[in-house]
Amino acid sequence: MPPSGGHSRVGGNPGIIIINAEGTKQTFSLQSKNLLLTAQSRGRLQILRMSNNIKAGLYIHIPFCLSKCAYCSFYSIKSSKLIPDYLAALHKEIKFYSKSFNSFDTIYIGGGTPSLLSCDQLASIFSAIHKTYKITTDAEITLEANPGDISQDFLKTLRSMGINRLNIGIQSFDDKLLKFLGRRHSSREAIAAIDQARQAGFDNLGIDLIYGVHGNGIKSWKNTLLKAVRFLPEHISCYQLSLDTKTPLYKTYKHSGFSLPDEKIQAKFFMTTSEFLEDEGYIHYEVSNFARNKHLQSRHNMKYWRHVPYLGLGPGAHSFLDQKRWWNKSSVRNYLKEIGAGKMPLENYEQLSLAQLQLEALFLGLRTKAGIDLRFYQQKYGMDLLAEKRPIIEILRENKLVKLELGFLVPTRKGLAVADSLALI
Ligand code: SF4
Repeated sequence: MPPSGGHSRVGGNPGIIIINAEGTKQTFSLQSKNLLLTAQSRGRLQILRMSNNIKAGLYIHIPFCLSKCAYCSFYSIKSSKLIPDYLAALHKEIKFYSKSFNSFDTIYIGGGTPSLLSCDQLASIFSAIHKTYKITTDAEITLEANPGDISQDFLKTLRSMGINRLNIGIQSFDDKLLKFLGRRHSSREAIAAIDQARQAGFDNLGIDLIYGVHGNGIKSWKNTLLKAVRFLPEHISCYQLSLDTKTPLYKTYKHSGFSLPDEKIQAKFFMTTSEFLEDEGYIHYEVSNFARNKHLQSRHNMKYWRHVPYLGLGPGAHSFLDQKRWWNKSSVRNYLKEIGAGKMPLENYEQLSLAQLQLEALFLGLRTKAGIDLRFYQQKYGMDLLAEKRPIIEILRENKLVKLELGFLVPTRKGLAVADSLALI
């Protein structure tokens, strides 16, 4: 459950100018026809105002976990002592951007473990969001939850707050594998969480699963998928276990040398997952993501894949607007320190060149079943892909990795399996 970032698409001149307490000026130049800039003083920060009619996505990061899962390399802290201070700082950061972003049609509360917060704490975040921004009436509002943290009353309260999508980190229905992964919950709790979510009225439920775990062969993984689809989740994310060298699982791997699937087996897991879930009626709409129909695809995540603006708040969160990407300091303490001093908690930012945007759009587009709308790509990024990349596209087509369909360059299932290398064209 990584902190996400945002991007934005605009075209004019100056953009957001942030002047911090030391008087250092950082300029985020924005280029958009639908951009309106006005100066606004915010205490010790000064932010130029951007107003546009693009519906951006809002990501809020909750960087706390009760314990660390053995495979997890995402930043989060175990101590919950800092939660009250963190929420106070988050409220300030929510307000920082009040004149830069004005309207959101997706909100994603991710982590970390957002379901560690109490209903009152979550309500205070939503209250700050609603006081500051316009949230469209049809907004997709997602919260990530871990089984074992949630009760029916908690979930009912979430529904009453307007949270209409719940994503549960199930990972596996096998207690041995859950233990191996260092998850806090049991398979019984995972099933109970799904039942409770349904009873609380969640009709848009996503579950996360992990494959390629030691001891979980293809047959056992198919069994996991079979169990999952019996609950008819609207959305399923299937991630392959990867071993980051900083994780406890990597240390176990080094010491015990447990087996990991080789490339061929990994490809088999991928194809089996895709075939199985599509046979069950799911759309394999992105490398790791499946939805029961196109309206149930994650609207929030689609913004990341389509270069739509988004604002990420909290430690490590990324934001994207036009050709700029900026991200926050990842440590909670540093985040608190910066906000306490009246500064933006920025770690850094980058100005993406047109060539970088073209490559990103290619990379992200080929990770989705929808693929790349060639006419739109040319309008937005100024490149006629078919004309400029024809030889390589032909090779990819001959190898059945992509196809051309009604003006779209679309990855095949085999292409999705190697999506990360497709964009190298
Ligand atoms: S719950 Fe586990 S996997 Fe999720 S962020 Fe916390 S430690 Fe990582």
